[in-house]
Amino acid sequence: MSKKTSQPNIVPRAPVVVVMGHIDHGKSTLLDYIRKTNVVDKEAGGITQAISAYEVVHKDEDGKDRKITFLDTPGHAAFTKMRERGARIADVAILIVSAEDGVKPQTLEAYKTIMESKTPYVVAINKIDKPGANVEKVKIELAENEIYLENYGGTVPFAEISAKVGTGVDGLLSLINVLADMEELKGDTNEPASGIVIEANLDPKRGIEATLIIKNGSLKSGMFVVIENSIASTRIMENFNGKPVKEASFSSPVRVVGFDKAPTVGCDFKSFDNKDDALEQIQAYEASKTKGAVNTKEESDKKVIPIILKADTAGSIEAIEKEIAKIENETTEFKIVVKGVGPIIESDIKNIGTSIENVLVVGFNVKSDKNATELAQNRNIEIAFFDIIYKLTEWLELEMEKRKRKVETEETIGKAKILKTFSRTKERQIMGGKVTEGRITLGSKVKLMRRDFQIGTGTVVNLEKAKSKTSEVEEGTEFGMMIEAKTDIVAGDVIESFSIVKK
Ligand code: GDP
Repeated sequence: MSKKTSQPNIVPRAPVVVVMGHIDHGKSTLLDYIRKTNVVDKEAGGITQAISAYEVVHKDEDGKDRKITFLDTPGHAAFTKMRERGARIADVAILIVSAEDGVKPQTLEAYKTIMESKTPYVVAINKIDKPGANVEKVKIELAENEIYLENYGGTVPFAEISAKVGTGVDGLLSLINVLADMEELKGDTNEPASGIVIEANLDPKRGIEATLIIKNGSLKSGMFVVIENSIASTRIMENFNGKPVKEASFSSPVRVVGFDKAPTVGCDFKSFDNKDDALEQIQAYEASKTKGAVNTKEESDKKVIPIILKADTAGSIEAIEKEIAKIENETTEFKIVVKGVGPIIESDIKNIGTSIENVLVVGFNVKSDKNATELAQNRNIEIAFFDIIYKLTEWLELEMEKRKRKVETEETIGKAKILKTFSRTKERQIMGGKVTEGRITLGSKVKLMRRDFQIGTGTVVNLEKAKSKTSEVEEGTEFGMMIEAKTDIVAGDVIESFSIVKK
């Protein structure tokens, strides 16, 4: 458990804001504009933003400086999950709609995410500088989709803006602060920091680093950050400009360098004043995870195709995991046994136990080093490389098809009615019958049915038609047969001949 260092010191907290909306409606332009005009450190506001979140200062109506944190999440389609999480990380969302194009499918998707996560939001009607802009039309379209703006039958605050020129952006920032005030966002500066991981990557020189948004508490140098089972000390801590800092508090984005494992984007992080407490947290996490793992094993008797996945960023890994989870069939599933940020290296291949068959090693936007490639060749392990997620999933679908476990299914070949039984020994019975459907073949397995219930099984060991041996009798034919079965067969029973096919 985290230990408090002193009495609580509860103070208002700056809002964390996410911009959502249809592609090309101006998300990046708005984020760029705000970054350029409101980031205090101009030098960093320009070209060198190091991480995907930034802090701005905006003067409220009383002339007081107020901080706002913006999330600058990747716009790639595969990052929907992160965008969805964006809304959870965020305290306020901006739903941006182009005044030129109006409400589009992704506008509604974003709106749905905002609603589901119950995030307070403002609407920004953008591109009002464009000759084709029609603000009134957008308002009507929004209302048609049950987004009722203030003075248009509802209470949703909105701003008419040009992200390009900057018109109305100041007003938009003021609206955000009003919404934040209504939420009464607060935090305790004396708590150890906790919050959410928004980014993780491998810096070739510095190691694994993660960007965190602090939602409560403070992070000071000398503390320890835990994300699931990975840990880092806060020896190297930077603000969003990439400048070293000794302390950070809510709602600031910070980058912490030196995790021992790649953290998962979207996870919560916790921090601790001393390492023992941090390690205790990891132990608790691992104990809960093992319990979960045993349970899932009991539930699933599917064939598992193991995957080792290495990728350029934690975001890519997350996106790929999501896609992989979608590929499965009744008998087979993929399981990512090892994942990590960085190239495929010798130990990735070395660690594959000899008992593991069928393993797929996948590199996404990464290479494999020479030793890894050679070892994989020697061990006959395939390494596949991709730089587009859907190509990777297409390939995995084919691999799944190739490797899936064949299911054994019974196919009924024919049915016959038993007309008369003759002699029987302990396990063999002689009887006569007539084929009512399909055919009955010598050597085939049969189900023994009485009034639609299966009473046993047997094997056809002798088959005769018109008193001479035959290998098959067809529909309509009367026959004599010997069946090997433990169940007593009587006149009136039905036998069903079936074969087992693998599909
Ligand atoms: P995103 O896909 O939502 O991030 O959209 P972008 O920010 O990339 O904007 C798409 C295009 O619209 C770019 O060419 C921008 O320059 C343009 N754009 C965005 N906002 C405005 C605006 O307010 N006025 C004008 N005229 N163009 C804009």
